[in-house]
Amino acid sequence: MGFDYGPLEARYDAIVIGAGMAGLAAAIRLAMFDVKVVVLEKHYMPGGLNSYYHRAKRPFDVGLHAMTNYAPKGAKRMPLTKLLRQLRIPHDALQLAEQGHSEVRFPGVTLPFTNDFQVLRGAIAEAFPDQADRFDGLVAAIEAFDNLSLDREQLPARPVLAQHLSDPLLIDMLLCPLMYYGSAVEDDMEFGQFVTMFKSIFLEGFARPEGGVRTLTDLLKARLKEVGGEVRFKRGVKRILSKDGKVFGVELEKDDQVIEAPVVISTAGHHETVGLCEALPQPSPETNPVGQLSFMESIHCLDCEPKALGLDQTIVFFNDSERFHYRAAEDYADLRSGVICMPNNYRHQTPLEEGLVRITSIANFAKWAALEKPEPYGEVKERWRAAQAEVAAKLLGEFREHVVYHDTFTPTTILHFTGHQNGAIYGAPTKLTDGLTGVDGLFLAGTDQGFLGIVGAMLSGISIANARVLTAR
Ligand SMILES: Cc1cc2nc3c(=O)[nH]c(=O)nc-3n(C[C@H](O)[C@H](O)[C@H](O)COP(=O)(O)OP(=O)(O)OC[C@H]3O[C@@H](n4cnc5c(N)ncnc54)[C@H](O)[C@@H]3O)c2cc1C
Repeated sequence: MGFDYGPLEARYDAIVIGAGMAGLAAAIRLAMFDVKVVVLEKHYMPGGLNSYYHRAKRPFDVGLHAMTNYAPKGAKRMPLTKLLRQLRIPHDALQLAEQGHSEVRFPGVTLPFTNDFQVLRGAIAEAFPDQADRFDGLVAAIEAFDNLSLDREQLPARPVLAQHLSDPLLIDMLLCPLMYYGSAVEDDMEFGQFVTMFKSIFLEGFARPEGGVRTLTDLLKARLKEVGGEVRFKRGVKRILSKDGKVFGVELEKDDQVIEAPVVISTAGHHETVGLCEALPQPSPETNPVGQLSFMESIHCLDCEPKALGLDQTIVFFNDSERFHYRAAEDYADLRSGVICMPNNYRHQTPLEEGLVRITSIANFAKWAALEKPEPYGEVKERWRAAQAEVAAKLLGEFREHVVYHDTFTPTTILHFTGHQNGAIYGAPTKLTDGLTGVDGLFLAGTDQGFLGIVGAMLSGISIANARVLTAR
């Protein structure tokens, strides 16, 4: 899909920094209401953390395991339905294939789940009979909680969970997938975020757009163009310009070009945005530290379907130690827990060209960043990829002799593609849920506003565009 926009103009009504999911969604929303908007992206591709690339003529999604928040066509009052309605994108355009079944596996207990919540509920009643009623109480509290409020109080989730559930194993098993798919906080998560992730993973579920993440980024780019917005690649923002506490534009890395606008929405992250704007105060390291959680992931291409080898789950979240540890790894990666995704095991999709096994582990940014490239970085990466594959093979069944190609990314890759300090996959632990930065006209959306994941990031962009720009007009 080409970009035949003319030259960048000197003045817009609004600038969005970053063409990830949040930035594209925010810009579409603004352009739909005749706001003259441009998205400035430092890379040559859209998607940010959720992009795609080619290696050895194979297409790879950067991050996509699952689109959370599955909603069937026509379902009312669900986040995905609302999001598609706000952007005027038809549900059919995504061609969503639902997951088969996924699992949370801990020593001695496996909880299966699907897009039918009763499967998880039944599995909990069977494995934890004394927790069944308590679990129903927790679900009622989750359903009653307004997690989309932009000015909600931030509470840690574990104490709230302990009010409902008395078995620490069940608490850890519920937290494991939710933390892996959306917690910037070590060993806990913010309760509103817990509710968001619980709804999006367990109550709504997983799906995959036919064609992977590219289907979604192509749709967003096309929609932006259709409503009159612009996106410009290789246009990194070097500085956000403000005067007397009010934003007035940005300066680009390329030729120091200045573009003026009374509104700037940054999806670059909170700490990263502070680094771009002299007028913003440095966040306190005690109350708002830089994120520490980063991942390494290896993708194994097979000469057969994973299910031919007995790997029939869509996604497995596992932990093999007594307690679940979700904190920056001490070594290059922490293989005691992780996520294994087999994208072939979505239902009703055109069969993928190869079998795929994606294995994700928590990593240690500083250790990876200290390695020289290409070596010893390449050798260490290969060693840890092989170790990840061994763990997955022990857990789910042997697949390694069917691997015909593999590719691995580390925290330094995440830093390169997103600019997130420490390669922090979910940004900083403290979120600015209201999107307000303290500089008039400068707002935060995306990862550090607090809605995470593909659908969350798009909802964040839409919410900030609606609440901070469109309703203020
Ligand atoms: C490995 C991995 C796997 C994942 N898997 C899933 C999954 O399966 N399902 C799911 O729902 N979510 C997944 N996620 C999370 C999801 O990708 C993110 O939550 C979401 O994409 C965040 O979107 P965003 O727009 O807020 O931020 P980003 O994607 O970080 O986008 C920010 C954009 O801003 C650009 N930018 C930064 N600084 C500047 C600057 N100075 N000038 C111009 N541009 C700039 C960046 O280049 C980037 O394109 C995964 C993430 C990773 C890393």
